[in-house]
Amino acid sequence: MDADVIIIGTGAGGGTLARSLSGTGLKVLLLERGDFLRRTKSNWEPDAVFHRRAYHTAERWLDRQGTPFQPVTGYHVGGNTKLFGAAVLRRRERDFTTVRHAGGESVAWPIQYADLAPFYDLAEQWYFAHGQRGEDPTEPPASGPFPYPPVSHESAIEAVFRRLQAFGLHPFHLPLAIHLDEARYFASPCIRCDTCDGFPCLVQAKGDAENCAIRPALAHTNVSLKTGLRITRLQSSADGRRIVAVHGEGEQGPESFSARVVVLAAGAVNSAALLLASASDAHPRGLANSSDQVGRNYMCHLNSVMLALSPWRSHSTIFQKTIGVNDFYYDSGDSRFPYPLGHIQLLGKVTGAVLKAERPAVPRVAADWFGRHSVDWWLTTEDLARPDNRVTLTNTGQIRLSYTPNNVEAHTRLLSVWRSVLRRIGFPFIFSQRIGVDGVAHQVGTARFGEDPAQSVLDPYCRAHALDNLFVVDGSFMPSIAAVNPSLTIMAQAQRVGEYLKARLAQGDWRV
Ligand SMILES: Cc1cc2nc3c(=O)[nH]c(=O)nc-3n(C[C@H](O)[C@H](O)[C@H](O)COP(=O)(O)OP(=O)(O)OC[C@H]3O[C@@H](n4cnc5c(N)ncnc54)[C@H](O)[C@@H]3O)c2cc1C
Ligand code: SF4
Repeated sequence: MDADVIIIGTGAGGGTLARSLSGTGLKVLLLERGDFLRRTKSNWEPDAVFHRRAYHTAERWLDRQGTPFQPVTGYHVGGNTKLFGAAVLRRRERDFTTVRHAGGESVAWPIQYADLAPFYDLAEQWYFAHGQRGEDPTEPPASGPFPYPPVSHESAIEAVFRRLQAFGLHPFHLPLAIHLDEARYFASPCIRCDTCDGFPCLVQAKGDAENCAIRPALAHTNVSLKTGLRITRLQSSADGRRIVAVHGEGEQGPESFSARVVVLAAGAVNSAALLLASASDAHPRGLANSSDQVGRNYMCHLNSVMLALSPWRSHSTIFQKTIGVNDFYYDSGDSRFPYPLGHIQLLGKVTGAVLKAERPAVPRVAADWFGRHSVDWWLTTEDLARPDNRVTLTNTGQIRLSYTPNNVEAHTRLLSVWRSVLRRIGFPFIFSQRIGVDGVAHQVGTARFGEDPAQSVLDPYCRAHALDNLFVVDGSFMPSIAAVNPSLTIMAQAQRVGEYLKARLAQGDWRV
């Protein structure tokens, strides 16, 4: 045995679990295909991030039609939290139940909000969550205030906040995982820059899984990390009930490891791909796949970017992403369409440089003018689990992501409602763009948890129904995605699984 627990992947799920198991008597080995993300000035260069996509994998996946695309996902210590926008929201209580949407029903979770609530508290502490309770009418109960005060609005954004309130809406300070100390700016690790959302943080002040989970975990002698090792296959015992070896490819060639418990946390697409690639005589359709649910029910949100332009109001906002709006989360406000529309939040500032990187044909001077006159939004609507939205592998092992958006009318209405709100608060020109299949940032659902082994892959503690010692602790486990960003929930569930593992390993379970 190389360890008591092997964790494959160091992102929101794997990283958080490692910290949860650190400082115990358990030997924990993290296996990560990427490396520590190197700190260079290009971390904060829009051209490197959005045009050259220097921090995304160069892999090509295939869509349903077989067209290759470069997925918006990166392989680093800390996983995709290295690039995330740091919005850390809890799911609403209702998000754990079956909710009727215009496009169908969401799938109820096998646990309730109360099961996750203490872990949401802890995840907010670990990840420096800043926010203000009591402003968002849909927010679930919490045991106390956020660990850190809300991130303040800059003047142009404060004006938008006030205008939204005057319009009768309930904007709130967006909960953010950044290590910012506004009371003592001179000592604040975060310098409140305009290159956060989508960028790695050059000064290591983002509440990402490297800073908030992996480094604290590695401070304990019971946790070790091996980078640059891509896991290619999990091998089960002859009776198919246990994982006996984890096989990977590194710079030194093939390597194999074993542990009492193996936790897969490679992200929803890669974890499903790895389970499918690990088919054997005992698991002919792929590991843990007797239900035929592995890889299915992929969800990623219906996402759009909306740029609202006010030609007569120039501003110099730096850190823009401070407002959230959930007034259309539960329903549209229109009795003829009594369904949820989704969640709205500000984006990181779309500066001239960002716009130029995304749209090289736009002249720089026009991009700069646009950046000084726009306020930029991110709109998400819940998509629903559909068996046909799925991850599969080609004969050569390439990932195919077959995804057809559903619940589209709700998203179209969210865009239309928000466009009309923005026009009425002084932004006459609105530009929006839907995110395509390559935008896999919010990937979840491909190994969902549940009580019924015929309908789910994992049990409510994320253990594979079919294998005693295999857990999956990344976004895969979610049976429904809700409309808020997923990472805080992945972190909270990883902590919950961590407590469960500690208790069972202490009892001597999975002894070999
Ligand atoms: C640009 C961007 C902005 C985002 N903004 C937000 C936001 O504001 N709020 C929010 O909540 N979420 C946001 N997200 C999403 C968030 O980052 C993810 O939900 C979260 O990181 C998923 O956690 P995970 O553990 O499932 O996977 P990941 O964090 O992706 O971790 C998976 C890990 O597994 C490793 N890995 C993969 N395959 C293998 C293999 N075969 N062998 C070994 N290791 C492997 C990867 O390198 C990675 O370290 C954003 C994502 C992106 C890309
Ligand atoms: S805003 Fe703060 S956390 Fe975000 S990249 Fe800039 S310095 Fe880092």
